[in-house]
Amino acid sequence: MEGSMFSERIQRLSGSLIREILAAAQRPGVISFAGGLPAADRLPELDWHAAPRALAQYGTSEGEPGLRAKLAAQVSALGLPCAAEQVLVLTGSQQTLDLAAKLFVDPGTPVLVEQPTYLAALQVFRLFGADCLGVPLTPRGIDLAAFEARLQARRPALAYLIPTFQNPSGARYDEATRDAVAALLDRYEVPLLEDEPYRELSFDGKTATPIAARLNKAPWIYTGTLSKVLAPGLRDAFLVASPELFPYLVKLKQAADLHSCRHAQWQAEQWLGSERLAEHVDRLIGFYRERRDTMQAALERHFADLADWNTPEGGLFFWLRLKRRVDTRTLLPAALEADVAFMPGEPFFAEPDDGIGHLRLNFSHAPDARIDEGIARLAAILRAGGA
Ligand code: PMP
Repeated sequence: MEGSMFSERIQRLSGSLIREILAAAQRPGVISFAGGLPAADRLPELDWHAAPRALAQYGTSEGEPGLRAKLAAQVSALGLPCAAEQVLVLTGSQQTLDLAAKLFVDPGTPVLVEQPTYLAALQVFRLFGADCLGVPLTPRGIDLAAFEARLQARRPALAYLIPTFQNPSGARYDEATRDAVAALLDRYEVPLLEDEPYRELSFDGKTATPIAARLNKAPWIYTGTLSKVLAPGLRDAFLVASPELFPYLVKLKQAADLHSCRHAQWQAEQWLGSERLAEHVDRLIGFYRERRDTMQAALERHFADLADWNTPEGGLFFWLRLKRRVDTRTLLPAALEADVAFMPGEPFFAEPDDGIGHLRLNFSHAPDARIDEGIARLAAILRAGGA
């Protein structure tokens, strides 16, 4: 783009593939396993009647005081003690990624990520010029030897981890791995960005204290969202950060959008900590567990000879490793032609060669009655494609 009217950064703006898939997935009749969307018929009824008129005025960059207090209580209950003054209300946890990238990343800055990782995080980090370094995941968390080798070889400016029902792999870090990761981050003094959108969606009820709570020295940002338990359209999310980072993040938030929508914050405050949210999440978990089981059965029927996978204990995704090395992006046109959408695995890898032959299947969105049919169609396409 010689002589472009745009910033240099724009040349690093990647990926229309995902947008194209999600757009195609919304066509009527398409069975979509592509996005991480809640089931449409499980979205709660939101009542706006009692919202005060004063919310139409500008608010503070940090967020509404009542909501910050409730979020602080929720995060403290996870074992990460925090005060309301440490909470920054955001517009989607996607905004945390953007603000963290602005805080830590210059062109060429090394950022350590899981391999695979959330692809929209890769997009943001790369937009700011990050050199994303992948560390392989196991079902119990990041590969510790590879993690330490990376920290030793070239100290990253940031480590971005999704320790609970990771997107896309579904991996959940166990206690020992959480402790070991915290100890390594402390030893190498590498800041942690801990992203936990799926924490509440645990099918076996098990929870673990965040890694941020296990740090003694390294700076940290912990981020969560209401997107997966309430409604993604509200864009209600937050971050909590260690004291040396927090003032910078508030200034970056202010520069980005002054403050998050006060009506959406008010709605979040009505739900957070309430009995009806607890009941809603309980029902949601039961419902998603059933869909997980439906997809597990469909995969056993149609994919047993095509792929390996771990049964997810929470979150929204199955992650398939194909037995033969096929770039799953090449299967997309045939899949969309057959009215079934999935997410190719390759874009989730910082180091793309490692990613060939993976795919991500969301089990929360497609109606239960159509899951088997969709999986059967995908299997047929894979077989026809030489898998
Ligand atoms: N991080 C991860 C790992 C995600 O999977 C998502 C949503 N797919 C987000 C961040 C962004 O969530 P939101 O902006 O809706 O809070």
